[in-house]
Amino acid sequence: MARYTGPACRMCRREGTKLFLKGERCTTGKCALERRSTAPGQHGAANKKVREYGTQLREKQKTRRYYGVLEKQFRNYFAEADRKEGMTGENLLVLLERRLDNTVYRMGMAESRKEARQLVLHAHFTLNGKKVTIPSISVKVGDVIAVSENSRDNAKIKALLEGAANKLSPKWLEVNKENGSAKVVALPTREDIDFDFNEQLIVELYSK
Ligand code: SF4
Repeated sequence: MARYTGPACRMCRREGTKLFLKGERCTTGKCALERRSTAPGQHGAANKKVREYGTQLREKQKTRRYYGVLEKQFRNYFAEADRKEGMTGENLLVLLERRLDNTVYRMGMAESRKEARQLVLHAHFTLNGKKVTIPSISVKVGDVIAVSENSRDNAKIKALLEGAANKLSPKWLEVNKENGSAKVVALPTREDIDFDFNEQLIVELYSK
């Protein structure tokens, strides 16, 4: 399936929750969900009965859209999570959280995960000193992510660095806000993921 290129706010309205896909706008009164909370489409406001399958499907879509992952990639993450020891749902969220684009976002170096993905694709970051352009790379303990030398004078990167100074970073990252680098000091845990996911519903969906 191709990447969705339509309006981001439509996805939040579809899922009925803020997915924070548009950076600063999401926390202001301009947020589309705050102005119109019904699902998109002609029958969006209709009071539809949601069945068990529908609830599970929506939770999967919400999680997938939050991290900006395609359907097939999401399936692969689930399969990997299932192979690992421990709770499959938690493993899935941790795998998604470890994506390089998410890590750049968590460093405070992007307004949204979509922007983080673009920055990685355009080689604005290095991983352990090497140029990297794959947003789905999974970071591990000891990895160092940094703004690439060639991008230091980029006006956009400079603005993001300034903005990063006021952002909080998760405890699994040791962020240097002066130079826009971060070291992965631990793997993220479920407690580090500050969003209301019900991962058990995704496990139930894929276990049918
Ligand atoms: Fe979602 Fe952000 Fe659009 Fe609000 S502004 S609907 S949180 S993408």
